Amino acid sequence: MNFETPSCCLISLFIAVDLIETLAQYLNLRASKIPLSSELRELQSPSDQLRASQYMKDRIRMGIIKRTLFLAVFIALIKLSCFETLQELVVQSSNSPLIQSLLFVVALLVGQAILNIPFQTYSTFVIEAKYGFNRTTIGIFISDLLKGALVGGLLGGLVFAFIVRMLTNHGDQAWWMIWLGYTGFQFLLVWIAPITLLPLFLKLTPLSEGPLRAAIESYSQKQTFKLDGVWVCDASKRSAKSNAFFTGFGKFRRLVLFDTLIERHPPEEIVAIVAHEAGHFKLGHIWKLSIFSALSSLLFFYVIQKLISWDALYLSFGATKMNMGIGLTFAAILVNKALYFLSPIGAYFSRRNEYAADRFSVQTTGDAASLVNGLKRLVNENLATLNHHPLSVILHDSHPPLPDRIKPWAKN
Ligand SMILES: [Zn+2]
Repeated sequence: MNFETPSCCLISLFIAVDLIETLAQYLNLRASKIPLSSELRELQSPSDQLRASQYMKDRIRMGIIKRTLFLAVFIALIKLSCFETLQELVVQSSNSPLIQSLLFVVALLVGQAILNIPFQTYSTFVIEAKYGFNRTTIGIFISDLLKGALVGGLLGGLVFAFIVRMLTNHGDQAWWMIWLGYTGFQFLLVWIAPITLLPLFLKLTPLSEGPLRAAIESYSQKQTFKLDGVWVCDASKRSAKSNAFFTGFGKFRRLVLFDTLIERHPPEEIVAIVAHEAGHFKLGHIWKLSIFSALSSLLFFYVIQKLISWDALYLSFGATKMNMGIGLTFAAILVNKALYFLSPIGAYFSRRNEYAADRFSVQTTGDAASLVNGLKRLVNENLATLNHHPLSVILHDSHPPLPDRIKPWAKN
Protein backbone atom coordinates (compact mmCIF):
# COMPACT_ATOMS: atom_id res chain seq x y z
CA MET A 1 0.00 0.00 0.00
CA ASN A 2 1.34 3.42 -0.92
CA PHE A 3 1.08 5.58 2.22
CA GLU A 4 1.88 8.71 0.21
CA THR A 5 -1.64 8.90 -1.20
CA PRO A 6 -4.43 10.32 0.98
CA SER A 7 -6.82 7.43 0.27
CA CYS A 8 -4.26 4.85 1.46
CA CYS A 9 -3.82 6.82 4.70
CA LEU A 10 -7.58 6.87 5.21
CA ILE A 11 -7.97 3.16 4.46
CA SER A 12 -5.05 2.35 6.79
CA LEU A 13 -6.77 4.25 9.59
CA PHE A 14 -9.98 2.23 9.08
CA ILE A 15 -8.08 -1.08 8.94
CA ALA A 16 -6.05 -0.19 12.06
CA VAL A 17 -9.17 0.58 14.10
CA ASP A 18 -10.85 -2.66 12.99
CA LEU A 19 -7.77 -4.73 13.79
CA ILE A 20 -7.36 -3.23 17.26
CA GLU A 21 -11.06 -3.71 17.93
CA THR A 22 -10.99 -7.34 16.81
CA LEU A 23 -7.86 -8.05 18.86
CA ALA A 24 -9.40 -6.48 21.98
CA GLN A 25 -12.57 -8.52 21.57
CA TYR A 26 -10.66 -11.76 20.95
CA LEU A 27 -8.51 -11.21 24.07
CA ASN A 28 -11.62 -10.40 26.06
CA LEU A 29 -13.31 -13.59 24.90
CA ARG A 30 -10.27 -15.59 25.98
CA ALA A 31 -10.24 -13.84 29.37
CA SER A 32 -13.93 -14.66 29.84
CA LYS A 33 -13.15 -18.39 29.70
CA ILE A 34 -10.42 -18.42 32.38
CA PRO A 35 -11.75 -20.56 35.28
CA LEU A 36 -12.98 -18.30 38.08
CA SER A 37 -11.42 -18.31 41.54
CA SER A 38 -13.50 -19.96 44.27
CA GLU A 39 -14.52 -16.49 45.50
CA LEU A 40 -15.80 -15.50 42.06
CA ARG A 41 -17.54 -18.84 41.52
CA GLU A 42 -19.97 -17.67 44.20
CA LEU A 43 -20.93 -14.84 41.87
CA GLN A 44 -21.21 -16.95 38.75
CA SER A 45 -21.44 -20.75 38.49
CA PRO A 46 -19.22 -22.53 35.91
CA SER A 47 -22.27 -23.24 33.74
CA ASP A 48 -23.37 -19.56 33.84
CA GLN A 49 -19.81 -18.52 33.04
CA LEU A 50 -19.85 -20.80 30.00
CA ARG A 51 -23.18 -19.37 28.84
CA ALA A 52 -21.97 -15.77 29.33
CA SER A 53 -18.83 -16.46 27.34
CA GLN A 54 -20.83 -18.27 24.59
CA TYR A 55 -23.13 -15.24 24.38
CA MET A 56 -20.10 -12.96 24.03
CA LYS A 57 -18.61 -15.24 21.37
CA ASP A 58 -21.79 -15.13 19.27
CA ARG A 59 -21.89 -11.33 19.41
CA ILE A 60 -18.19 -10.97 18.65
CA ARG A 61 -18.43 -13.30 15.66
CA MET A 62 -21.29 -11.28 14.20
CA GLY A 63 -19.42 -8.05 14.96
CA ILE A 64 -16.34 -9.22 13.07
CA ILE A 65 -18.40 -10.22 10.00
CA LYS A 66 -20.21 -6.89 10.10
CA ARG A 67 -17.06 -4.79 10.49
CA THR A 68 -15.29 -6.69 7.71
CA LEU A 69 -18.22 -6.23 5.35
CA PHE A 70 -18.46 -2.50 6.10
CA LEU A 71 -14.71 -2.13 5.68
CA ALA A 72 -14.73 -3.97 2.33
CA VAL A 73 -17.62 -1.83 1.09
CA PHE A 74 -15.87 1.35 2.25
CA ILE A 75 -12.62 0.44 0.47
CA ALA A 76 -14.56 -0.52 -2.68
CA LEU A 77 -16.42 2.82 -2.64
CA ILE A 78 -13.10 4.68 -2.56
CA LYS A 79 -11.25 2.49 -5.04
CA LEU A 80 -14.13 2.43 -7.54
CA SER A 81 -14.59 6.25 -7.22
CA CYS A 82 -18.19 5.77 -6.04
CA PHE A 83 -18.03 8.82 -3.76
CA GLU A 84 -16.96 10.91 -6.77
CA THR A 85 -19.74 9.46 -8.95
CA LEU A 86 -22.37 10.07 -6.25
CA GLN A 87 -21.07 13.61 -5.80
CA GLU A 88 -21.40 14.31 -9.54
CA LEU A 89 -24.93 12.87 -9.55
CA VAL A 90 -26.17 15.05 -6.70
CA VAL A 91 -24.45 18.17 -8.07
CA GLN A 92 -26.25 17.61 -11.42
CA SER A 93 -29.60 17.01 -9.78
CA SER A 94 -29.94 20.37 -8.01
CA ASN A 95 -28.52 23.90 -8.06
CA SER A 96 -28.72 24.33 -4.32
CA PRO A 97 -25.53 23.29 -2.47
CA LEU A 98 -27.68 22.49 0.57
CA ILE A 99 -29.97 20.11 -1.34
CA GLN A 100 -26.92 18.55 -3.02
CA SER A 101 -25.26 17.79 0.29
CA LEU A 102 -28.49 16.56 1.90
CA LEU A 103 -29.03 14.16 -1.04
CA PHE A 104 -25.45 12.97 -0.69
CA VAL A 105 -25.65 12.26 3.01
CA VAL A 106 -29.10 10.64 2.74
CA ALA A 107 -27.82 8.27 0.02
CA LEU A 108 -24.93 7.21 2.27
CA LEU A 109 -27.15 6.76 5.33
CA VAL A 110 -29.72 4.71 3.41
CA GLY A 111 -26.92 2.50 2.08
CA GLN A 112 -25.56 2.07 5.60
CA ALA A 113 -29.01 1.20 6.94
CA ILE A 114 -29.59 -1.40 4.20
CA LEU A 115 -26.31 -3.09 5.10
CA ASN A 116 -27.04 -2.85 8.80
CA ILE A 117 -30.61 -4.20 8.95
CA PRO A 118 -29.71 -7.89 8.38
CA PHE A 119 -27.25 -7.68 11.30
CA GLN A 120 -29.78 -5.99 13.58
CA THR A 121 -32.35 -8.64 12.65
CA TYR A 122 -29.91 -11.49 13.25
CA SER A 123 -28.77 -10.04 16.56
CA THR A 124 -32.34 -9.62 17.86
CA PHE A 125 -34.08 -12.71 16.49
CA VAL A 126 -31.21 -15.21 16.54
CA ILE A 127 -28.57 -14.28 19.14
CA GLU A 128 -30.75 -12.52 21.72
CA ALA A 129 -33.46 -15.15 21.22
CA LYS A 130 -30.98 -18.01 21.72
CA TYR A 131 -30.12 -16.73 25.21
CA GLY A 132 -33.74 -16.02 26.12
CA PHE A 133 -33.42 -12.22 25.99
CA ASN A 134 -35.49 -11.37 22.96
CA ARG A 135 -39.14 -10.53 23.47
CA THR A 136 -39.51 -8.21 20.47
CA THR A 137 -42.06 -9.09 17.84
CA ILE A 138 -41.47 -8.41 14.13
CA GLY A 139 -44.08 -5.63 14.39
CA ILE A 140 -42.35 -3.80 17.27
CA PHE A 141 -38.96 -4.33 15.61
CA ILE A 142 -40.09 -2.75 12.33
CA SER A 143 -41.95 0.09 14.02
CA ASP A 144 -38.88 0.87 16.20
CA LEU A 145 -36.68 0.92 13.09
CA LEU A 146 -39.07 3.26 11.26
CA LYS A 147 -39.58 5.57 14.24
CA GLY A 148 -35.81 5.66 14.86
CA ALA A 149 -35.13 6.51 11.22
CA LEU A 150 -37.83 9.20 11.24
CA VAL A 151 -36.73 10.90 14.47
CA GLY A 152 -33.02 10.50 13.65
CA GLY A 153 -33.56 11.73 10.09
CA LEU A 154 -35.55 14.74 11.21
CA LEU A 155 -33.22 15.84 14.02
CA GLY A 156 -30.04 14.87 12.14
CA GLY A 157 -31.31 16.59 8.99
CA LEU A 158 -32.01 19.81 10.90
CA VAL A 159 -28.54 19.83 12.50
CA PHE A 160 -26.85 18.97 9.20
CA ALA A 161 -28.72 21.70 7.29
CA PHE A 162 -27.87 24.24 10.01
CA ILE A 163 -24.16 23.36 9.88
CA VAL A 164 -24.03 23.55 6.07
CA ARG A 165 -25.79 26.96 6.15
CA MET A 166 -23.35 28.34 8.70
CA LEU A 167 -20.31 26.99 6.83
CA THR A 168 -21.55 28.55 3.60
CA ASN A 169 -22.46 31.93 5.09
CA HIS A 170 -19.84 32.54 7.78
CA GLY A 171 -16.57 31.27 6.34
CA ASP A 172 -13.70 30.88 8.80
CA GLN A 173 -15.76 31.95 11.81
CA ALA A 174 -18.48 29.33 11.31
CA TRP A 175 -17.09 26.74 13.77
CA TRP A 176 -17.88 28.59 16.99
CA MET A 177 -21.27 29.77 15.73
CA ILE A 178 -22.15 26.19 14.78
CA TRP A 179 -21.03 25.12 18.22
CA LEU A 180 -23.27 27.69 19.95
CA GLY A 181 -26.32 26.60 17.97
CA TYR A 182 -25.56 22.90 18.31
CA THR A 183 -24.93 23.05 22.07
CA GLY A 184 -28.14 25.03 22.64
CA PHE A 185 -30.08 22.49 20.58
CA GLN A 186 -28.57 19.60 22.54
CA PHE A 187 -29.51 21.08 25.90
CA LEU A 188 -33.03 21.69 24.65
CA LEU A 189 -33.22 18.08 23.47
CA VAL A 190 -31.98 16.62 26.76
CA TRP A 191 -34.53 18.79 28.55
CA ILE A 192 -37.56 17.87 26.45
CA ALA A 193 -36.66 14.35 25.23
CA PRO A 194 -38.12 12.57 28.31
CA ILE A 195 -41.57 13.98 27.60
CA THR A 196 -41.45 14.08 23.80
CA LEU A 197 -39.12 11.42 22.37
CA LEU A 198 -38.93 8.71 25.02
CA PRO A 199 -42.70 7.97 24.97
CA LEU A 200 -42.41 7.27 21.23
CA PHE A 201 -40.36 4.17 22.01
CA LEU A 202 -41.35 3.11 25.52
CA LYS A 203 -44.67 3.18 27.27
CA LEU A 204 -44.23 4.89 30.63
CA THR A 205 -46.67 4.45 33.48
CA PRO A 206 -46.30 5.82 37.01
CA LEU A 207 -45.04 3.24 39.49
CA SER A 208 -48.04 2.02 41.49
CA GLU A 209 -48.34 2.68 45.23
CA GLY A 210 -46.59 0.13 47.39
CA PRO A 211 -43.44 -0.59 49.37
CA LEU A 212 -41.11 0.08 46.41
CA ARG A 213 -42.57 3.49 45.61
CA ALA A 214 -42.63 4.45 49.28
CA ALA A 215 -38.97 3.41 49.69
CA ILE A 216 -37.83 5.36 46.59
CA GLU A 217 -39.83 8.47 47.56
CA SER A 218 -38.55 8.42 51.10
CA TYR A 219 -34.98 8.10 49.81
CA SER A 220 -35.30 10.99 47.32
CA GLN A 221 -36.94 13.22 49.96
CA LYS A 222 -34.15 12.53 52.42
CA GLN A 223 -31.64 13.43 49.72
CA THR A 224 -33.66 16.51 48.63
CA PHE A 225 -33.56 15.11 45.16
CA LYS A 226 -36.10 16.69 42.77
CA LEU A 227 -38.05 14.12 40.81
CA ASP A 228 -40.92 14.28 38.32
CA GLY A 229 -42.20 10.94 39.50
CA VAL A 230 -41.06 7.34 39.35
CA TRP A 231 -42.03 5.64 36.10
CA VAL A 232 -42.07 2.09 34.86
CA CYS A 233 -41.35 1.37 31.19
CA ASP A 234 -42.51 -1.68 29.28
CA ALA A 235 -38.96 -2.80 28.40
CA SER A 236 -40.11 -6.43 28.73
CA LYS A 237 -41.89 -6.05 25.37
CA ARG A 238 -38.47 -5.91 23.75
CA SER A 239 -35.92 -7.62 25.94
CA ALA A 240 -35.65 -9.57 29.18
CA LYS A 241 -32.62 -7.48 30.24
CA SER A 242 -33.10 -5.10 33.14
CA ASN A 243 -31.96 -1.57 33.94
CA ALA A 244 -32.91 1.77 35.48
CA PHE A 245 -32.10 5.34 34.44
CA PHE A 246 -32.87 9.01 35.00
CA THR A 247 -33.80 11.27 32.11
CA GLY A 248 -34.04 15.04 31.85
CA PHE A 249 -32.98 17.83 34.18
CA GLY A 250 -34.46 19.65 37.17
CA LYS A 251 -38.24 19.73 37.15
CA PHE A 252 -38.45 17.28 34.26
CA ARG A 253 -36.13 14.72 35.78
CA ARG A 254 -37.80 11.34 35.75
CA LEU A 255 -36.70 8.08 37.21
CA VAL A 256 -37.47 5.22 34.83
CA LEU A 257 -37.34 1.61 36.02
CA PHE A 258 -37.53 -1.30 33.58
CA ASP A 259 -40.49 -3.53 34.44
CA THR A 260 -38.03 -6.44 34.25
CA LEU A 261 -36.01 -4.87 37.09
CA ILE A 262 -39.09 -4.63 39.32
CA GLU A 263 -40.03 -8.24 38.57
CA ARG A 264 -36.74 -9.63 39.78
CA HIS A 265 -35.23 -7.35 42.43
CA PRO A 266 -36.46 -6.77 45.98
CA PRO A 267 -37.20 -3.08 46.83
CA GLU A 268 -34.00 -2.54 48.86
CA GLU A 269 -31.84 -3.55 45.86
CA ILE A 270 -33.77 -1.20 43.59
CA VAL A 271 -33.31 1.65 46.10
CA ALA A 272 -29.54 0.92 46.14
CA ILE A 273 -29.48 1.03 42.32
CA VAL A 274 -31.56 4.25 42.28
CA ALA A 275 -29.19 5.75 44.87
CA HIS A 276 -26.29 4.91 42.57
CA GLU A 277 -28.01 6.72 39.68
CA ALA A 278 -28.86 9.66 41.96
CA GLY A 279 -25.16 9.75 42.90
CA HIS A 280 -24.29 10.56 39.28
CA PHE A 281 -26.38 13.74 39.63
CA LYS A 282 -25.42 14.69 43.17
CA LEU A 283 -21.70 14.26 42.49
CA GLY A 284 -21.97 16.48 39.41
CA HIS A 285 -21.09 13.71 36.93
CA ILE A 286 -23.93 14.72 34.62
CA TRP A 287 -22.86 18.38 34.49
CA LYS A 288 -19.18 17.55 34.17
CA LEU A 289 -19.98 15.16 31.34
CA SER A 290 -22.13 17.80 29.61
CA ILE A 291 -19.36 20.40 29.88
CA PHE A 292 -16.77 17.88 28.68
CA SER A 293 -18.90 16.91 25.69
CA ALA A 294 -19.65 20.58 24.90
CA LEU A 295 -15.90 21.37 24.92
CA SER A 296 -15.19 18.29 22.78
CA SER A 297 -17.77 19.36 20.23
CA LEU A 298 -16.16 22.84 20.09
CA LEU A 299 -12.89 21.14 19.16
CA PHE A 300 -14.78 18.80 16.78
CA PHE A 301 -16.31 21.70 14.81
CA TYR A 302 -12.98 23.55 14.68
CA VAL A 303 -11.25 20.46 13.27
CA ILE A 304 -14.13 19.84 10.83
CA GLN A 305 -13.93 23.43 9.57
CA LYS A 306 -10.17 23.11 9.00
CA LEU A 307 -10.57 19.71 7.29
CA ILE A 308 -13.20 20.76 4.75
CA SER A 309 -10.95 23.40 3.24
CA TRP A 310 -8.20 20.82 2.78
CA ASP A 311 -7.98 19.22 -0.71
CA ALA A 312 -6.45 16.01 0.65
CA LEU A 313 -9.68 15.25 2.54
CA TYR A 314 -11.62 14.96 -0.73
CA LEU A 315 -8.78 13.09 -2.41
CA SER A 316 -8.68 10.57 0.42
CA PHE A 317 -12.30 9.63 -0.40
CA GLY A 318 -11.41 9.44 -4.10
CA ALA A 319 -13.37 12.64 -4.82
CA THR A 320 -12.68 16.26 -5.67
CA LYS A 321 -13.62 19.45 -3.81
CA MET A 322 -17.01 20.64 -5.02
CA ASN A 323 -19.38 21.18 -2.16
CA MET A 324 -18.83 22.10 1.51
CA GLY A 325 -21.69 19.92 2.76
CA ILE A 326 -20.15 16.89 1.08
CA GLY A 327 -16.81 17.85 2.61
CA LEU A 328 -18.58 18.01 5.97
CA THR A 329 -19.78 14.42 5.48
CA PHE A 330 -16.26 13.23 4.63
CA ALA A 331 -14.75 15.11 7.57
CA ALA A 332 -17.34 13.68 9.98
CA ILE A 333 -16.63 10.11 8.77
CA LEU A 334 -12.88 10.64 9.18
CA VAL A 335 -13.03 12.33 12.59
CA ASN A 336 -15.48 9.75 13.97
CA LYS A 337 -13.09 6.95 13.10
CA ALA A 338 -10.07 8.80 14.50
CA LEU A 339 -11.98 9.44 17.75
CA TYR A 340 -11.71 5.71 18.47
CA PHE A 341 -8.22 6.42 19.76
CA LEU A 342 -9.61 8.86 22.32
CA SER A 343 -12.30 6.47 23.61
CA PRO A 344 -10.06 5.28 26.51
CA ILE A 345 -10.26 8.78 28.03
CA GLY A 346 -14.05 8.76 28.21
CA ALA A 347 -14.12 5.15 29.41
CA TYR A 348 -11.58 5.93 32.16
CA PHE A 349 -13.61 8.82 33.59
CA SER A 350 -16.81 6.83 33.28
CA ARG A 351 -15.35 3.94 35.33
CA ARG A 352 -14.11 6.40 37.94
CA ASN A 353 -17.59 7.89 38.16
CA GLU A 354 -19.11 4.44 38.59
CA TYR A 355 -16.97 3.77 41.67
CA ALA A 356 -17.90 7.19 43.06
CA ALA A 357 -21.64 6.60 42.45
CA ASP A 358 -21.37 3.22 44.17
CA ARG A 359 -19.75 4.93 47.18
CA PHE A 360 -22.53 7.52 47.16
CA SER A 361 -25.15 4.78 47.15
CA VAL A 362 -23.60 2.99 50.12
CA GLN A 363 -23.04 6.20 52.09
CA THR A 364 -26.58 7.48 51.62
CA THR A 365 -28.48 4.21 52.05
CA GLY A 366 -26.08 2.72 54.58
CA ASP A 367 -26.77 -0.59 52.86
CA ALA A 368 -23.72 -2.02 51.07
CA ALA A 369 -25.20 -5.53 50.97
CA SER A 370 -28.18 -4.48 48.85
CA LEU A 371 -25.96 -2.68 46.34
CA VAL A 372 -23.67 -5.71 46.06
CA ASN A 373 -26.62 -8.11 45.71
CA GLY A 374 -28.33 -5.83 43.20
CA LEU A 375 -25.18 -5.61 41.05
CA LYS A 376 -24.62 -9.37 41.20
CA ARG A 377 -28.16 -10.03 40.11
CA LEU A 378 -27.91 -7.46 37.27
CA VAL A 379 -24.69 -9.00 35.98
CA ASN A 380 -26.12 -12.52 35.98
CA GLU A 381 -29.46 -11.48 34.49
CA ASN A 382 -27.70 -9.72 31.63
CA LEU A 383 -25.20 -12.60 31.14
CA ALA A 384 -22.17 -10.37 31.63
CA THR A 385 -18.73 -11.96 31.92
CA LEU A 386 -16.63 -11.40 35.04
CA ASN A 387 -13.06 -11.57 33.74
CA HIS A 388 -12.28 -8.74 31.34
CA HIS A 389 -9.03 -8.36 29.43
CA PRO A 390 -7.20 -5.10 30.31
CA LEU A 391 -7.10 -3.95 26.66
CA SER A 392 -10.87 -4.28 26.42
CA VAL A 393 -11.34 -2.50 29.77
CA ILE A 394 -9.13 0.39 28.60
CA LEU A 395 -10.87 0.71 25.23
CA HIS A 396 -14.53 0.17 26.02
CA ASP A 397 -15.53 -0.50 29.59
CA SER A 398 -17.69 2.35 30.80
CA HIS A 399 -18.41 0.23 33.90
CA PRO A 400 -15.71 -1.59 35.90
CA PRO A 401 -15.95 -5.41 35.88
CA LEU A 402 -18.18 -6.68 38.71
CA PRO A 403 -15.40 -8.21 40.88
CA ASP A 404 -13.59 -4.81 40.98
CA ARG A 405 -16.82 -2.99 41.68
CA ILE A 406 -17.88 -5.00 44.67
CA LYS A 407 -14.38 -5.39 46.13
CA PRO A 408 -14.63 -2.27 48.36
CA TRP A 409 -17.85 -3.60 49.95
CA ALA A 410 -17.23 -7.33 50.02
CA LYS A 411 -15.34 -7.22 53.35
CA ASN A 412 -18.13 -5.44 55.26
ZN1 LIG B 1 -23.58 4.38 37.01
